[in-house]
Amino acid sequence: MVTSRSCPIVDAGLAGITAGTLLQTQGWRVWLLDKGRAPGGRMATRRIGEAALTMARSS
Ligand SMILES: Cc1cc2nc3c(=O)[nH]c(=O)nc-3n(C[C@H](O)[C@H](O)[C@H](O)COP(=O)(O)OP(=O)(O)OC[C@H]3O[C@@H](n4cnc5c(N)ncnc54)[C@H](O)[C@@H]3O)c2cc1C
Repeated sequence: MVTSRSCPIVDAGLAGITAGTLLQTQGWRVWLLDKGRAPGGRMATRRIGEAALTMARSS
């Protein structure tokens, strides 16, 4: 249901997830929309068979 305090965010990467989390703490209802198959954007984990490859991580 769309309310006056609801907001779609087109980006389920780091920026969108962060924005959505902050908005939710302020009482907003948030939808994350993304063209990808899974959340995470450039930080998403790619799975190839048994292998899992996380593209962007600092450690
Ligand atoms: C190999 C690699 C290593 C990295 N290492 C580091 C590191 O060590 N430290 C660090 O701080 N940063 C690192 N980064 C950068 C970091 O991953 C990015 O800065 C960060 O993930 C960007 O987040 P974002 O949400 O801005 O964008 P993205 O992660 O790109 O997310 C954007 C999302 O929006 C979606 N989207 C785009 N257009 C549309 C559309 N029209 N409709 C629907 N969905 C759409 C995409 O599918 C994507 O999921 C690295 C990046 C890479 C690729």
